[in-house]
Amino acid sequence: MVKLINTREELYDQINSYIKNPESLELIDKVYDYAYEKHKDQKRRSGEPYFVHVLNVAYELAKLKVDPSTLCAGLLHDVLEDCDVTKEEFIELFGEEIYQIVEAVTKISNLKFTDEKEYQATNHRKILIAMAKDVRVILVKLVDRLHNMRTLEYLPEEKQKRIARETLDVYAPIAHRLGIAEIKNELEDLSFYYLDNEKYREIARLVESKKSERDNQIELMMKDISIVLEMHNIPFRIFGRSKHLYSINKKMVTKNKRFDEILDLLAIRIVTKTETNCYEILGYIHAVYRPIPGRLKDYIAMPKMNMYQSLHTTIVGPDGRIYEVQIRTEEMDEIAERGIAAHWSYKEGKSYSQKKLVEELNWLKAFEDNSEVDAKEYMNDITHDIFNANIYCMTPRGRIIDLAAGATPIDFAYRIHTEVGNQTVGALVNGVLVPLNTPLKTGDVVELRTNKNSTPSEDWLKIVKTAHARNKIKAYFQKKEMEDKAEAIKQGEQMLKEELRKHDLDVNEFFDAKKLDKVASAFQFNNGNDLLYAMGCKSMTPMAVIEKLTKLGKKEVDMSYIEKIARKNSERNHIISKTGIMVRGVSSMKIALSPCCSPVYGDEIKGFVSKGQGIKVHRADCPNIVKERRVIDVEWDPNKPDIRYEASIKIYSKDRSYLLTDLVTVVAQYKANLTAVNSQANSEDLTATTSMSFMVSDLEHLEMIMTNLRKVESVISVERAIK
Ligand code: MN
Repeated sequence: MVKLINTREELYDQINSYIKNPESLELIDKVYDYAYEKHKDQKRRSGEPYFVHVLNVAYELAKLKVDPSTLCAGLLHDVLEDCDVTKEEFIELFGEEIYQIVEAVTKISNLKFTDEKEYQATNHRKILIAMAKDVRVILVKLVDRLHNMRTLEYLPEEKQKRIARETLDVYAPIAHRLGIAEIKNELEDLSFYYLDNEKYREIARLVESKKSERDNQIELMMKDISIVLEMHNIPFRIFGRSKHLYSINKKMVTKNKRFDEILDLLAIRIVTKTETNCYEILGYIHAVYRPIPGRLKDYIAMPKMNMYQSLHTTIVGPDGRIYEVQIRTEEMDEIAERGIAAHWSYKEGKSYSQKKLVEELNWLKAFEDNSEVDAKEYMNDITHDIFNANIYCMTPRGRIIDLAAGATPIDFAYRIHTEVGNQTVGALVNGVLVPLNTPLKTGDVVELRTNKNSTPSEDWLKIVKTAHARNKIKAYFQKKEMEDKAEAIKQGEQMLKEELRKHDLDVNEFFDAKKLDKVASAFQFNNGNDLLYAMGCKSMTPMAVIEKLTKLGKKEVDMSYIEKIARKNSERNHIISKTGIMVRGVSSMKIALSPCCSPVYGDEIKGFVSKGQGIKVHRADCPNIVKERRVIDVEWDPNKPDIRYEASIKIYSKDRSYLLTDLVTVVAQYKANLTAVNSQANSEDLTATTSMSFMVSDLEHLEMIMTNLRKVESVISVERAIK
């Protein structure tokens, strides 16, 4: 059955059997010669000329009677990958249609699924189909895989197993879904051979040992049935059928049966003319042989998802043995073996509609039989998901992440994990650093850069495309706001209580919700909590509150005394943040380095109190500080904390090739981890502006890097960046 070919003549015999149009044949000749020329010096691992692979791929396609374009694509399927051909040359020579098929095949071949743990067969199939976009691409890919499986013996064992696994999990189910039983069965048996060779041999031996016995039985049964049918003068062909090894094994495993318990090992197929003939034959057979209850299946009235049609029944023969009988028309038989390919067999003179191919994609719709869902609705969902809405990207370890079209690395990050999303600072797509708002494409490999100290930016809400990521970012900011507010209220409460105690004022008497509400309204706040919040944010001093509080009550307080105490107090207290910022006179307060000018240890700095955000620290020369109002003295803790600071710089240069590589190399030499790079060329004046962010230990470290960046060829200036 399996035939491998070696010559042009063998291929052309097959082609000539169904393509007669001289124009098509001329194109095929041209493509053949071209492909032959391109591959002629290449060898396969087996030592055979590479072109033998191409020849066999085309031969299998011709057996499926594909249209001339698909056949040409089969001949050319490896030239983009292995030979030196540009897109333009290709299109010029053979046209856009063939190019599209070959390009998609090449892309699919380049997908790498390496990690066993991350391996997800279902998604793997989806990504393949999504990339194919055209059933013809899948056909080429299937026969390509078929020939590679047939010649797998030349690869090392580990590779054999990996490819066999992928074939069994991904390609065979696709062949099944397309209804191409011939290819599906062969792919399954070949995979089985490599994945569990011992089992394969065992079953092959069992089949072989019973073969002559079974052949005899079937032979007798076929004669018996033939006599019955001839009596009724009905057209038919009858033949015995053997199950392929993998399906025998599957039945033994899933149904937990011994080899000799499998009923349909003795199988007979009857092929007739019309649908009515099928039912007639069934009737005649049931009239003579006892059918086994529950085994009659009418796939003519109710075709399988992959359009398979046939009547199945199981009967007891005169010898007492059990036989499975399949009854179908010639056309049904063709579809049962060739599936989608039979359905669209190329017929000259008939217009071959690509649109129809796409419309009929319900062949691919369900990889699991899903009878609960309305088929039409399901079809709509799936085609929408696969062909429009979804893209499939991968982690560097091969895990597939499906996302809405237009999704960015941030969406990707949140799909991996919320923490990963929150800490993302950069992304490499297919090994190249890209801005975080870059739309991803199916097949992209996305590697994320994260930083534990980093938090989401509110701008991300405008960038992300998935509801999932948007919700997670919003949740982050809501939580942060709540926490900040609660924290500030707690601080305000503490400050006020401390201050009361210092002045020997009764905390229980003055720290009273009603009184605080009154004072709050005197200061135009809504309630006591808002007042405490204002204190916590330093936009209100405890002294001012106490002054009002005491006036509400009986005791009068000596204000000058209180102020004196307060000043003394402020000199004693100070806090030091994790980032090494020290603030005197404050005992607890949130302190953050402003991301606009990203100060690093050693920079001249200024602090500002901002409502709800604690103290923000800018570089002293940051232009944004004009917007800040409440200045507070800050300084670097003389004991530098053991952390790194993110510095951002802007490099202005003439544009040239390898500029970015040279810049990145300098940064790497000084062991400063890059967190973001973005370069923009200005084609008008041939300059480039490059923004870079990286982690430095202090100002000295940063200046050293900047000095060396200035020495890079064609760099004009290097400045600290202000966002
Ligand atoms: Mn190939």
